[in-house]
Amino acid sequence: MLTPDTNNSQESTSQASNKHAANSQGSNTPEYSKLWYPYAQMKSLELNLEVVEASGVYLTMSDGKRLIDGISSWWCVSHGYNHPELNQAMFDQAQKFSHVMLGGLKNSTTEAFASKLVEITPEGLNHVFFSDSGSVGVEVAIKMALQYFFNQGNQKKTRIVALERAYHGDTTACMSVCDPAEGMHKMFHGITPEQFFLPAPKGGFNASTETIDEELSKAETLFQTHGESIAAVIVEPLMQGAGGFNIYSPEYLNRLKALCEQHDILLIFDEVATGFGRTGKLFATNHTDIVPDIMVLAKGLTAGYVGHAATLASTKIFEAFLSDSYSKAFMHGPTFMGNPLACAIGLKAIEIFERDNFLGNIETIESILKEELLGFEHEEIVETRVLGATGAIEVKDAKFHQGIQQFAAERGVWIRPFERYIYTMPPFVITPEELRKITGVMKAWFARPR
Ligand SMILES: *Cc1c(COP(=O)(O)O)cnc(C)c1O
Repeated sequence: MLTPDTNNSQESTSQASNKHAANSQGSNTPEYSKLWYPYAQMKSLELNLEVVEASGVYLTMSDGKRLIDGISSWWCVSHGYNHPELNQAMFDQAQKFSHVMLGGLKNSTTEAFASKLVEITPEGLNHVFFSDSGSVGVEVAIKMALQYFFNQGNQKKTRIVALERAYHGDTTACMSVCDPAEGMHKMFHGITPEQFFLPAPKGGFNASTETIDEELSKAETLFQTHGESIAAVIVEPLMQGAGGFNIYSPEYLNRLKALCEQHDILLIFDEVATGFGRTGKLFATNHTDIVPDIMVLAKGLTAGYVGHAATLASTKIFEAFLSDSYSKAFMHGPTFMGNPLACAIGLKAIEIFERDNFLGNIETIESILKEELLGFEHEEIVETRVLGATGAIEVKDAKFHQGIQQFAAERGVWIRPFERYIYTMPPFVITPEELRKITGVMKAWFARPR
């Protein structure tokens, strides 16, 4: 392999493999990372933290240091790492079969997981379509919403309404419903399908009636003008995650649903981040009085063990695909949908969640986060927000975070701020002491001498 400082002559370049010679601009071929990391400028990416083991809420690094994972590996490792019972469930399934296709074959693990999801999700979501990741789960939801109308002979309803500040994933249809102005996919705006956007709801969990009135009057105007072309509204219920932890009211959702019904528009809840306890109830939907037509689960679905997603649909949606004609069937089927390893882990994860009263843990987490973060003040802080097992600090300027990861790691905590947000979304098995260590480090960052 060529290294940056070995070959300074033309001759030695010609001896290099064709691949390197073709890539080489001059005499030096930089030694780039083979692994292309997510959301990273690979030119300047410096990674000094290497995980060699993980257990409970702790990541053990190659230098032996242990860090508390304050963000559950992108919000999914709800039960902590290396959970003996989840390991066992996966192992037991692997000894039967790790994977088998769902095309034309039944298996009891995937069937049982679908039934369990129907049982624990809000009443009315009776059918489960599995896929590999949250993004694909959202793609499935959008495709399902459009075909619901196509199957009834309505070809006009092709557009989706989303909220500003939304984040729904990284694939094409998902990008089209992410915030078009500030979202990370804005470069693709104009290439992805053109959707409608409503303002991000304001006023927090207990928003005033006037605020909701004003916001929903915009929805009403949009529906009145363009309702005939709108198939569905998609939202992250109660908390917009990657768009900056914008927490909003259940009442907004109750009333949005009523408006959707008036205009024959479906409502999709993307509970990829909020599902499985993150907002304090099992699903964010449980804070509301309504049930969406379609709901997407991922992240916590498999306790962060393997990638998987579930798109749940009401009977009304499901029935629109029933026909004597094959042409109305839902033409979708990821290779790994319903993967038995994922389903075995997911089933066990739900069993543990219920048995060990994780909702109780989450209540404790919420009260500690409130105590530690709400009311914490600093000239750089715009607002601190807490909902369930999520605590976020919004600052005025993203530059303020520079160096915080290193700072936190030196103090035994792993966090990863983005844009103007420093946050924690810990695993639900965290102890109060461990949690206070995370919030302590977050607060120490503000108190450090500068
Ligand atoms: C993470 C996330 C997704 C995407 O899920 P992936 O598994 O990363 O594809 C979609 N919607 C929301 C709300 C998310 O937080």
